[in-house]
Amino acid sequence: MSPDSHHDYDVAVIGAGVVGLAVAAGLAPHRRVLIVGRHGRIGTETSSRNSEGIHAGIYYPAGSLKATLCVEGNRRLYALCERHGIPHARVGKLIVATQPGEIGELARIHATAAANGVDLTWVGPEVAEWEPAVKAVAALWSPTTGIIDSHALMRHYQHVAVDHGADLVMRCTLIGADRTGDGYALRLQDAAGEMMTVQVGQVVNSAGLDADRIAALVGIDPKEAGYELSYCRGVYFRLSSRHQGRVKCLIYPVPAPQTVGLGVHVTLDLAGQLRLGPDVEYLKERRQDYLVDERRRDSFHEAVSRYLIGVAPEDLTVDQAGIRPKLQGPGQPARDFVIAEESARGLPGWVNLIGIESPGLTCAPVIADRVAALLRVIES
Ligand SMILES: Cc1cc2nc3c(=O)[nH]c(=O)nc-3n(C[C@H](O)[C@H](O)[C@H](O)COP(=O)(O)OP(=O)(O)OC[C@H]3O[C@@H](n4cnc5c(N)ncnc54)[C@H](O)[C@@H]3O)c2cc1C
Repeated sequence: MSPDSHHDYDVAVIGAGVVGLAVAAGLAPHRRVLIVGRHGRIGTETSSRNSEGIHAGIYYPAGSLKATLCVEGNRRLYALCERHGIPHARVGKLIVATQPGEIGELARIHATAAANGVDLTWVGPEVAEWEPAVKAVAALWSPTTGIIDSHALMRHYQHVAVDHGADLVMRCTLIGADRTGDGYALRLQDAAGEMMTVQVGQVVNSAGLDADRIAALVGIDPKEAGYELSYCRGVYFRLSSRHQGRVKCLIYPVPAPQTVGLGVHVTLDLAGQLRLGPDVEYLKERRQDYLVDERRRDSFHEAVSRYLIGVAPEDLTVDQAGIRPKLQGPGQPARDFVIAEESARGLPGWVNLIGIESPGLTCAPVIADRVAALLRVIES
């Protein structure tokens, strides 16, 4: 679709998280863009409650969007960070086997990564020389894993979008959407309860934890479409500053069989602080409950003590929690991202981004390109 002046905007992007902002930054040089966010600040939900990892693309099934977009997103994020001075560090990551029985699982991870085009290196018992605080018999080394200041990344995308003329409207919630002629009428409500309607040509639904509800506003049945989200919380504990500098890279255990997550791992932030997490807990109620139960300290302590030497329970303090918008419920097989232009449902120019859980931060630049191609703004 080409820009059409009888609409207030060519494209509305719903959600000012990292994905919505990346999409807006990609579209703004070519289209009149409106970004709608319901909070006072950008990126206040999942985009500011994660590990800030630049993932390599190791664990996802070959050919999946999670695998292909992550591998490409990894390269793109480093290039973007270097070009625009976005704080980041290519710290690398070790996946560690603490006993010989786990080496078979490391081999499986190695094979999955290779199928995704990710090179991992085997490390033998010399892993103890690399990371003296780590207890391991063997490990896989991922040199392309890193960490990023996700807020600086979001500010970068915001500036690119706004510098190219995009309007960013915060404290504004999308509450209704109708197909009208060749576009959409969006009903928005501001913090004072005032309503307004904007006419737009196209819509990108990057509403994270509410993306299925936004799809429902325009008449898609989330259950029937397979878009219904389950909330899966991950909590973090912080290690006391006496542990600062004890590891140089991210340390992941071998995931236990049949577990949903990757196991409680050690992440670093750019200031060198160590964090543990996230764990995996499906929430019974669908609400953004970020409260961390301090009593989980013991299970975190036990998990990390399997591979990190010298951690006492009192070294752990509650940090934060984030919630993954998952397309699968507990016990169901893993699902891929949904990135769908909805012409087939009679909704041309409406793009749904649903189930953008990890590695969504890493994939953001590539998701933005996919969306621009689906909206025929750039060549695919
Ligand atoms: C515990 C955890 C750890 C993670 N670790 C990593 C990692 O290390 N690396 C990585 O690559 N990824 C990671 N992720 C995934 C990553 O954080 C997400 O994929 C990414 O932040 C999703 O961004 P988003 O813009 O889609 O969603 P969000 O950041 O949730 O943004 C969506 C926005 O839409 C807004 N919105 C919703 N409904 C409306 C409405 N009706 N009107 C207006 N606005 C609305 C919300 O307010 C929200 O701000 C992790 C996720 C979690 C939960």
